[in-house]
Amino acid sequence: MIQKIKDEEKNNSQVTMIAHNITDVCGPRLTNSPGYNRGLDWVTAICKQWGLQNAGREAWGEFGKGWSNEQGTLALKTPYYENIIAYPVPWCKSTKSAVKAELIMLDAFDSATIDKAGDAIKGKIVMLKPGNASIPDAFKAYATRYGDSSLDNLPEDYMVTRKQIEQFLPQIKSGYYTSLYLEKKGALGLLRSSRGSVDGTVFVDGGAGFAKGYQPTLPEMKTSREDYLKLMRLVQDNKKVVLEMNIQNTFYDKDLNGYNVVAEIQGIDPTLKSQVVMLGGHLDSWAGGTGATDNGAGCIVMLEAIRILKTLGVQPKRTIRIALWGGEEQGLIGSFGYVKKHFGNPDDMQLKPEQANIAAYYNLDNGSGKIRGIYTQSNPAVRDIFRAWLAPFADMGAAGGVSNSNTGSTDHISFDAVGIPAFQFIQDPLEYETRTHHSNMDTYDHLSIPDLQQAAVIVAAFVYNTAMRADMLPRKPLPKPEKFVFDFDFPI
Ligand SMILES: [Zn+2]
Repeated sequence: MIQKIKDEEKNNSQVTMIAHNITDVCGPRLTNSPGYNRGLDWVTAICKQWGLQNAGREAWGEFGKGWSNEQGTLALKTPYYENIIAYPVPWCKSTKSAVKAELIMLDAFDSATIDKAGDAIKGKIVMLKPGNASIPDAFKAYATRYGDSSLDNLPEDYMVTRKQIEQFLPQIKSGYYTSLYLEKKGALGLLRSSRGSVDGTVFVDGGAGFAKGYQPTLPEMKTSREDYLKLMRLVQDNKKVVLEMNIQNTFYDKDLNGYNVVAEIQGIDPTLKSQVVMLGGHLDSWAGGTGATDNGAGCIVMLEAIRILKTLGVQPKRTIRIALWGGEEQGLIGSFGYVKKHFGNPDDMQLKPEQANIAAYYNLDNGSGKIRGIYTQSNPAVRDIFRAWLAPFADMGAAGGVSNSNTGSTDHISFDAVGIPAFQFIQDPLEYETRTHHSNMDTYDHLSIPDLQQAAVIVAAFVYNTAMRADMLPRKPLPKPEKFVFDFDFPI
């Protein structure tokens, strides 16, 4: 079977077709936006075309408003004309047509600083003084791969602790309120830029305006760092700077429900078919690019993996179910909603019967890099099983790296929180952190197609092995009831 999986991918790969549709054709897939809905519909249609069963969207609870951007331009008008590389922040308001306004700079983003500036803010576009007025040096390669020897010892990665979230939430809250206050004081727009937004890459994410009770915030754009630092120097030199900002957005509030999309290959063993092996990744993205590596890549790999198995006509003992999630970028809320609905709530650990039937959940969400191994998520009992399953892929760069560490910040955490064996693969980093993650450069051409093809083969093998194994995978002891760490809940 492993050789058949390898051959199917080598001879009939559909990775470029899937990638093109999810990125170029669907476009940005901000949760509940038209692009996200195109994604749900396309995934449903292709899964049906492949002959998968029970394909379709599934509501998981209330998400909030959708948002799409139809126009987003920023230009320097005085002292001379120049186009500025800038992208609107999701869920911000539209400007009243194209607004021309003078630029001022605030030293800090808080109400005291706004009060100090007083009437000077009225009718202006505001920028914030950067903490570090330099750009990162260019001597370091953007893309990297792991060495073979480091894989078993990879430390904890992407883990967001309760303490970090507790520090982080007041920041989000105060940023939201300060933006509203700035608008109340008469500002027309807000500019920001992160230090890594260089060489044409602009990182743009954030925005709380989707959720119930939140208002849309001031028109806001993230700009390239080089443009931003030039504007800073002109303002500091007391030169008059006039900008023209034109942001036109649409909010969607007809259906506030959030949706995931699922499809299955049903198991055939009379006693085991009620057990399920799940695979997935998040379908939603930010809006500055087309979400190719975050997380088109995970969707492409998981779709290709289940296509390979279906095409080969596997007759799995257990049911195989793909699930692509919404709302991951707002705090894993699509997968968490699914887990609460089907398996139980980590708050009280009152588990539902389905929880006992999930053999494993496999997730992919660390960019376009090929699979180099897997994290056991602190479950040492799966270590030797996974090592054996990786062995046939030594010639493809996955020589058996099994790290006993935890990795977080994505959807397997929702499953892990209720005691379901849930795993994220180790992937080569490529240029994920430096260039594509949440940036305007998260586009098709930054996908590595051979890496995705390799990953699809390995995922298909893991899913097949899990579906055919005599026993379910060994589980960790059940976690104690605890408020879910990603359950962002800060009422306004
Ligand atoms: Zn992601």
